[in-house]
Amino acid sequence: MSNIRHNWTKEEIIEIYNKPMMELLYEAATVHRVHHDPNTVQVSTLLSIKTGGCPEDCGYCPQAARYHTDIEGNDLMTVSHVKAQALRAKASGSSRVCMGAAWRNVKDGPEFDQVLEMVRTINKLDMEVCCTLGMVTENQAKRLAEAGLYAYNHNLDSSEEYYKEVISTRGYEDRLETIDNVRKTNVTVCSGGIIGMGESVEDRAGMLVALSTLNPQPESVPINALVAVDGTPLENEKPVEIWEMIRMVATTRIVMPETQVRLSAGRTNMSREGQAMCFFAGANSIFAGDKLLTTPNPDVNEDMKMFELLGLNPQKPFTKKVQPKTVEATDSQYQSLGEKPKWSRPDHTIERNEQAKEKMKEAVLAKKQ
Ligand code: SF4
Repeated sequence: MSNIRHNWTKEEIIEIYNKPMMELLYEAATVHRVHHDPNTVQVSTLLSIKTGGCPEDCGYCPQAARYHTDIEGNDLMTVSHVKAQALRAKASGSSRVCMGAAWRNVKDGPEFDQVLEMVRTINKLDMEVCCTLGMVTENQAKRLAEAGLYAYNHNLDSSEEYYKEVISTRGYEDRLETIDNVRKTNVTVCSGGIIGMGESVEDRAGMLVALSTLNPQPESVPINALVAVDGTPLENEKPVEIWEMIRMVATTRIVMPETQVRLSAGRTNMSREGQAMCFFAGANSIFAGDKLLTTPNPDVNEDMKMFELLGLNPQKPFTKKVQPKTVEATDSQYQSLGEKPKWSRPDHTIERNEQAKEKMKEAVLAKKQ
């Protein structure tokens, strides 16, 4: 019988989070060993297939068009470029490629068709394919599944209460609806959050309640430490202490025993010892490559040295779930429904940052010339 609990309360989770460190580490490592090989860590590669110019206002994100950051926007990558990047990632030990596009939501049309082709292409390389494209409808999720998508990422970011402090352009319920749409397919769910945005321990626990009470729990939960980028509203937040990261990873491991816990953004500020403690506490995935979408990340060779030092092995693809089949576009049983769902914009007045939009257009034009 499964010992997965879907009724965790905030109080219970706060109590776990605040345990004496040695107790917490011991408990998390014990749970981890029952459900996972402690010497195996998945290496994933995150590709930004469409960078910048996003209409959302996530306070931590340098890709939001309205913030004055130095991010260079680009058009959607070509399928052949993505394939080349995926092959490079595979050669350096990655078993999973996550493609991120700075979109509010997926829109049916040629760009989505291009993403579907990317999914088919990477799945045929025998790698797990994950996408993070914003909000998706049930039909879009089914089309992604049919193309061979392994996972869809849509983070809850924080607790429902604190989420409102960071994002106003869509509601928490929109996030949950997208996760629900993904759940109507055989695509696995990846959803986690960010610590260090000024939230309290209660908010961290609130996010873990929201995730752990989903049934089934997400197969993958990324835990990010905020990388404060100049020009974003959170630019002055102080870096997350490694101890907070360890507590968050350990607590996530305990309340979601079977989930793959991903040590995500913020690793450049962590020592090898700090990361080793996170692996001990139950983290079993890292993102490789010198960039994590747009923020810095450790070099892959450095990561491989760390693996060697710690005796860690990169996880093979499809160890948790079988490889999905790819259906070619010509054989698809789904088609574009041309939907225009009404995702919420709670208390938000659309303000366009004309200056940022112009800068973005100029960058795209310059690239084409
Ligand atoms: S996190 Fe995603 S949705 Fe939010 S502003 Fe950045 S790219 Fe847009």
